Amino acid sequence: AQVLTEFDTIAAISTPIGEGGISIVRMSGEDAIKIANQVFKGANLAKVDTHTIHYGHIINPQNDQVIDEVMVTVLRAPKTFTCEDIVEINCHGGIVVTNKILQLLLSSGARMADPGEFTKRAFVNGRIDLTQAESVMDIVRAKTDKARQVAVKQLEGGLMHQIRAMRQEILDTLANVEVNIDYPEYDADQVTAKQMSETSQSVINKINHLLKTSQQGTILRNGLATAIVGKPNVGKSSLLNYLTQSDKAIVTDVAGTTRDTLEEYVSVQGVPLKLIDTAGIHHTEDKVEKIGVERSQQALEKADLVLLLLDSSKELSDEDKMLIKLTEPKKRIIVLNKTDLGQKLSVDEVKELTHSEIISTSILKEKNLEELEGAIKELFFSGIENSNDQVLVTNQRQVALLKKAKGELEDVIDAVNNDVPVDIAQIDFNGAWDTLGEITGDSAPDELINQLFSQFCLGK
Ligand code: GDP
Ligand code: ZN
Repeated sequence: AQVLTEFDTIAAISTPIGEGGISIVRMSGEDAIKIANQVFKGANLAKVDTHTIHYGHIINPQNDQVIDEVMVTVLRAPKTFTCEDIVEINCHGGIVVTNKILQLLLSSGARMADPGEFTKRAFVNGRIDLTQAESVMDIVRAKTDKARQVAVKQLEGGLMHQIRAMRQEILDTLANVEVNIDYPEYDADQVTAKQMSETSQSVINKINHLLKTSQQGTILRNGLATAIVGKPNVGKSSLLNYLTQSDKAIVTDVAGTTRDTLEEYVSVQGVPLKLIDTAGIHHTEDKVEKIGVERSQQALEKADLVLLLLDSSKELSDEDKMLIKLTEPKKRIIVLNKTDLGQKLSVDEVKELTHSEIISTSILKEKNLEELEGAIKELFFSGIENSNDQVLVTNQRQVALLKKAKGELEDVIDAVNNDVPVDIAQIDFNGAWDTLGEITGDSAPDELINQLFSQFCLGK
C-alpha cells in the first residue's frame, strides 16, 4: 500500500525550457510558501489569501540583487493539484533567469522535483487516479487538438468512473456470495456460481465496449500509421511534401518524447498520421524500379492505412497490379494522380480491380487534395462514434489490463459452466477485481507506480 508520508517541498520549471513569453517555476509542499517568501519582495505571501496572484520581484536574499520581475500565485492545500501548498512563480522567459530562480529556491530549502513528481503527489494524495495521471502526460504530448480533448476527458475522470463502476459490480456480487453462504436453505453454491457468471458477462460487455474504443484511442495518441506506396515517379514524394507542409506537420519535440527519424507526423483534418518510412520514400527516386515493391512491402507491414498512388497518365503496369494486390488487405485509399495530364487510366478501370475508395488528384496542381484528406478522415472515423464526450482508452497499459481482466472473467464463466467448485472460480473473479484496480491505481503495486511516473516530463 501507498504510505502517506509528509512530503518535502519540491520545485521545478514547469514550462518548456527556452525563450518563451513566460516561464513558470512551480513549488509544492509544506514549506512552499515559506521558501517563496524568502526570495520574494512584495506582499507577505504567508498572509495572502489562497488562490491569489501577487506582483513583485525575486531577489537574492544574500545580496538583495533583483533577479526578475514576477507574478507569484499562492495556492494553499488542499484545493490544489497536488493537495499540497503550491507556489507558482511566473517569470520572464529565458533560460538564465528561470534557472536562476529555480536555483534560488533549491538553495532556500526546496528539492529538485523528479520527473512526474507533482502528478505523482496528486495521485498519492488521492486527488487523481492513475488513468488521470496518465492523461496529464498525454495532454503534454498530444499531437493534435482531438488527442488533447480525449486526454482532457480522461483527466476529468471518465475512464476512472467506468472502471470503478465495474469493480463495484464485482464487489456487490462478492458480497452476495457471503450472504448466500449464510442462508444454507437453498443451494448456495449454485446461486453464487450463477451470479458470478452473470456479473462476469456483464463486466465483459463493458470491457469490450472500452476495448473497441482503444484502437481509435491509440491512433489518436500515436498517429495512424500511414504508408504512401506506388511505383517510382508516381508522385509519392510530392504527396509527402504536401502533407508535411508546415501547417500540417506536427511538431513532436515536446520534452521527453523520442522521435524515430524515419517517421513524420502530420495532422489531416484532425486525424494524426504517422507517415511510415518517409526516408524510404525519398530514397526510391534514385534507385531502380524494383525497389518500389520491396520498400512498399516493408512499410506495409506497419501500416494501418495505405495510400496507393497510381499514375492516370499511364496504363496500368504490372508493378501497379502487384501493389494493388499487395495492399488489398489494408485500409486503403487509391490515389489516381496526375489528372492534369492526358488520361490513360480511368477511375472505372481501377474500380474493376478494387472496392477501395478512389480519389483522382493532381498533386502537382494541388487539385482534389482536400477530397483526399476528407477520405482519410472518413475512413478513420468510419464505424466509430465520433463524440467528444466519449471515453477512449488511449494507452497500452490500460488496454493490456482490460484484456487481462476480460480473460479472468471468461475463465470464471468457463469454470461455472464446467461445474468447477465455486471457491476455485472465485479466484479468477477476485483476480479481475484486482486487475481492474491496477488500471485506476487502486490496487497497483508501488513499483509500477514509480515506474509509470518516471516516464513523465520534468516539471509535471
Ligand atoms: P515519386 O517517385 O513517387 O516520389 O514521385 P515524385 O513525387 O518525386 O514525382 C515525380 C515527378 O512527377 C515529379 O517531377 C513531380 O513534380 C511530378 N508530379 C507529381 N505529381 C504530379 C501531378 O499530379 N501531375 C504532374 N503533371 N506531375 C506530377
Ligand atoms: Zn520521390
